[in-house]
Amino acid sequence: MKRRNFLSNTGLTLGALALSRYTSFASVLEYSAAYNIKMLTENVGVFTEQGGTIAFLLSDSGLVVVDSQFPDPAKHLIDELKKRSEKPFDLLINTHHHGDHTSGNIAFKGLVKSAVAHKNSVDNQKRVAEEATKAGRKIVEQYYPEMTFEKDWKYKAGDETIKAYYFGAGHTNGDAMIHFADQNVVHMGDLVFNRRYPFIDKAAGADIHNWIKVLDKAMDTFGTKNQYVFGHALDPEKIVGTQEDLKAFQNYLEKLLIFVEQEMKAGKSKEEIMKATSIPGVDEWKGDGISRSLDAAYQELS
Ligand SMILES: [Zn+2]
Ligand SMILES: [Zn+2]
Repeated sequence: MKRRNFLSNTGLTLGALALSRYTSFASVLEYSAAYNIKMLTENVGVFTEQGGTIAFLLSDSGLVVVDSQFPDPAKHLIDELKKRSEKPFDLLINTHHHGDHTSGNIAFKGLVKSAVAHKNSVDNQKRVAEEATKAGRKIVEQYYPEMTFEKDWKYKAGDETIKAYYFGAGHTNGDAMIHFADQNVVHMGDLVFNRRYPFIDKAAGADIHNWIKVLDKAMDTFGTKNQYVFGHALDPEKIVGTQEDLKAFQNYLEKLLIFVEQEMKAGKSKEEIMKATSIPGVDEWKGDGISRSLDAAYQELS
């Protein structure tokens, strides 16, 4: 990769550039995860460093954080929020169980009063940790949300109402949307990969057909007046968007199913189908990992 591209892709700060003159390129790579905080409204902001986008609410009664990335980014976020508010940490919410959204939970243990997630998310988090331990892989210490819900869930933080919605399986079988109802911001978790090939976790009950319906319900529920936060985006600036981005991602999923179904009907083998380098009609979708989309669609249509 050209150095210029590398720098712009990793979002290195000027400070890191200065540092790079004195250190090896390898340590610059380690340094590449400069964090970023952006306020979307007076009280709601987003944090990015490594892994799925975090959203937070600074309420009169305490701080609420949605997702936790990894332990180090979580600590950076906690330090930043302490500078912005003197209120205590109140609640941690997970959109779903994946490690890039929950590995930092441990940094909030003992700091928040409690953590909450969809029941399937916590079940998945426990299962994945058990499997990893059995396989001899080292994982960070887990903090499992002690509060769970199955359908809707609602919480009052000071004057602010927070609602969680579950519309069934999509990216996994435990993806909740977290709505800061008074601020008109909704965290979609990994139900939207903005212009980037999604991870479709079949082992955790992902369902592309239902995912399309989940996005319909989300658009019906949140409409055009909300800002939407996405777990991942190809362009780091586009982790926040509009209902149009939900429509575009839904279109990606629809075109993916149509393409794989047509190929199967034409008698192509899985190996042949997996050779595709783009999905016809949705060339806005890029990045690594088209194979995960093709493989998941093939499994679902077989
Ligand atoms: Zn993610
Ligand atoms: Zn995920």
